[in-house]
Amino acid sequence: MINIGLTGGIGSGKSTVARLFQKRGAHIIDVDVLAHMVEEPGSAVWNRIVEHFGREILDKDDRINREALGGIVFRDSEKLEKLNSIVHPAIFDEWWRRFDDIANNDKEAIIISDIPLLIEVGWHKTVDIVILVYTSPGVQAERIMKRNGYSHKEAQDRLNSQMPLDKKIPFADFVINNEGTPEETEAAVEKIWKELLKKGAPPD
Ligand code: ADP
Repeated sequence: MINIGLTGGIGSGKSTVARLFQKRGAHIIDVDVLAHMVEEPGSAVWNRIVEHFGREILDKDDRINREALGGIVFRDSEKLEKLNSIVHPAIFDEWWRRFDDIANNDKEAIIISDIPLLIEVGWHKTVDIVILVYTSPGVQAERIMKRNGYSHKEAQDRLNSQMPLDKKIPFADFVINNEGTPEETEAAVEKIWKELLKKGAPPD
């Protein structure tokens, strides 16, 4: 079993790269999906978020409106820290449950967890290998403006709330430069995949 953390920044291409590894046989755990799960209306995490940020951040159907909440926390680092302190422990529990499940069923599993804040929250210390998906801030901003319809300012707020990708490079075992064409990125993934297979199944 190999325990890999895949990270980058918003819009750098983590999901795209995760799909390419999945196609080759990796097990993917998408931590964003887990984040949505633990924030389901009525859950303990949902209750604490509403207690702290008010009902203004809820949709009509009582779901947390992530854009509204993002609009609050991505401009205020203390609020972001508070939100993280509510959400992260629950995500970690859920992640561990999934990880354990996969590892128990497949001793040779290559498990890649897509974790946007891998390095910011210190989670990189718990994985065997860190893969960073890199693009320059300009390309990141461009891609999320296109993907999410953000204004330049909205894109900048989100980028500014994260550690710049340049600073994450020293923590990475592999860096995938995703500024080029999708074909170039796929070739980079293929090369790393072969190395991962060579590493085989190290003893747990
Ligand atoms: P993340 O998961 O890191 O937020 P995504 O994988 O969703 O990033 O990629 C961000 C956006 O950029 C998506 O709309 C995706 O389709 C696009 N994208 C990703 N890689 C490339 C690439 N090499 N060339 C052009 N567009 C890309």
